[in-house]
Amino acid sequence: MINRRGLLIILSSPSGAGKSTLARQLMAWDPALSFSVSATTRAPRDGEVDGREYFFLSEDDFKTEVADGRMLEHAHVFGNFYGSPAGPVKKTIEAGKDVLFDVDWQGEIQIRNSDLGKHALSIFILPPSISELHRRLVKRGQDSDDVISKRMLKSWDEISHWGAYDYVLVNDNLQDTEKQLKTIINAERMRREQQPSLQSHVHKLQAEFEEMP
Ligand code: ADP
Ligand code: 5GP
Repeated sequence: MINRRGLLIILSSPSGAGKSTLARQLMAWDPALSFSVSATTRAPRDGEVDGREYFFLSEDDFKTEVADGRMLEHAHVFGNFYGSPAGPVKKTIEAGKDVLFDVDWQGEIQIRNSDLGKHALSIFILPPSISELHRRLVKRGQDSDDVISKRMLKSWDEISHWGAYDYVLVNDNLQDTEKQLKTIINAERMRREQQPSLQSHVHKLQAEFEEMP
């Protein structure tokens, strides 16, 4: 029997707060972590590769995936569709590996309410200030001024859902946040319901106990 079940680790934040950076650091920390590559109808940014950051789909193809029940969750964000393919997730967590999701608050609710919800761990990343959030979006240099303004306007909408998450971190110093994330994940991996093999271990302890003179 496997030692543990995988967690569905959900990272959300307003755009620019640092969740992709943190997700990359977690993947480098634990190569057994599996990143859930979302599907999206938005255009690829410079350097993004189909199948690595996202599966880039047409709107028609995306809608077919949803209609055929192949998305664990999906949402409309910044005028585009995004969704997490369901297929790989179940297999991965049953094999005892964690899956990392970079999804918005709508995705968090849907994953939590799914059949796999009891294995979900959700973490919300807050920026230290709104002006710093803006600075980070500009520094990232991936979006036009127009797109940055759109993301800033939506940031409060995302932040307002912070209360639905299991943990909330303020990403001020990147190294500190990375450390805090690892602490949370290490602890949550030991949750009782994440360790199905405990049951047989306790049975063995009981048998040994009953055989004691
Ligand atoms: P998100 O995925 O939440 O949209 P990113 O991870 O792309 O955000 O981060 C946005 C920008 O902010 C990037 O240029 C990244 O290097 C930078 N960044 C992330 N975390 C920090 C931090 N703690 N301090 C300073 N800059 C940061
Ligand atoms: P971006 O276009 O910057 O990559 O992502 C925009 C927003 O969409 C981010 O808040 C990100 O978390 C969210 N997002 C990315 N993939 C998914 C997904 O599969 N489902 C949901 N619900 N949101 C997603």
